[in-house]
Amino acid sequence: MQINVTKPFLPPLAEYHAYLEGIWRREWLTNHGPLSSELELRLKEYLSLDYLLYVTNGTIALQLGIKALELTGEIITTPFSYVATTSTIVWENCTPTMVDISPDTLNIDPAKIEQAITDKTSAILATHVFGNPCAIEEIDAIAKKHGLKVIYDAAHAFGTKYHGKSAFQYGDLSATSFHATKLFHTIEGGAVICQSPELLKRVAEMRNFGHLSPTEFGLVGINGKNSEAHAAMGLCNLKYIDEILAKRRQLHQRYKERLSGLPVRFQSIERDCEYNHAYFPVIFESEEILLHVVAALNLNSINPRRYFYPSLSELNYVRQAERTPISNDISRRVLCLPLHFTLSDEEVDLVCRLIHRSLKY
Ligand SMILES: *Cc1c(COP(=O)(O)O)cnc(C)c1O
Repeated sequence: MQINVTKPFLPPLAEYHAYLEGIWRREWLTNHGPLSSELELRLKEYLSLDYLLYVTNGTIALQLGIKALELTGEIITTPFSYVATTSTIVWENCTPTMVDISPDTLNIDPAKIEQAITDKTSAILATHVFGNPCAIEEIDAIAKKHGLKVIYDAAHAFGTKYHGKSAFQYGDLSATSFHATKLFHTIEGGAVICQSPELLKRVAEMRNFGHLSPTEFGLVGINGKNSEAHAAMGLCNLKYIDEILAKRRQLHQRYKERLSGLPVRFQSIERDCEYNHAYFPVIFESEEILLHVVAALNLNSINPRRYFYPSLSELNYVRQAERTPISNDISRRVLCLPLHFTLSDEEVDLVCRLIHRSLKY
């Protein structure tokens, strides 16, 4: 038995099958079918959002965001995230400017943003790391003062609330991922969430090749649509989302209790937020200790993940590591422990026992 860092949630097969029968009956597989529309509606209801578009994946959501906001030049961003946060900036012909993170929240440090702004800066693209919301007010204030757009990479933030509202509701635009490894998923998938009907319309056109009608094209678009089969998985999974969130909260709590007193550090969660417990990251005192723990866990068929590693400022197409000592250091010492819906208390206890034991020697 392998215990992996994540495992996709799977609904009862019969429930997915019932949706497939509908798809077979309608013979409508993609291009904004009824299940895709229903998923968008249900997500907006569940998260209390006005403007959301279901797209191919989280990476396309970020690319659509950068394009729709017409960003150019430099984009201030975080080195402590998944590679897609940086690669989409470069893919869209912009330059990432790396700003270091807070060692506590693991999110971009707002106190270091202003000194990185130049006359070429067009936006801030920050990640709500592991579902922990960024210092949203501070980032907003800086953006307003300097006329910058704000995009949040909210791939981890499904179910997180900040000041009582979904974390998706902040910034000019949020991009999220519904990939199979995420807390809520549609196998592959993602969404763009924005705050204005004009921006929504623009992203919707871009998602569909720039079509205004079957024979008219308004702007350069891409194929950012998703399919009925993917939407069906989302509709099945959404039924279980409260159970999924509750289970993760309980397992998170158990990890924290079992690992307390050890020379390890946890992420500080933003105050006034309802946290989704998307991941369980542990920061060890050194990379050497982390590697020792990983070896001990692997020996017992437990596969944690070095996430995020490496620091994105070290990518060969970025090379800004000198700007981000904290991210470089933390990315070498942080490990995400297994956390998913079918993980048992006994498995959490086993992981914690093995960590206790390997930290003793
Ligand atoms: C998963 C993830 C992405 C990419 O999402 P996909 O749906 O896999 O394309 C982007 N950013 C972060 C922080 C992620 O975790």
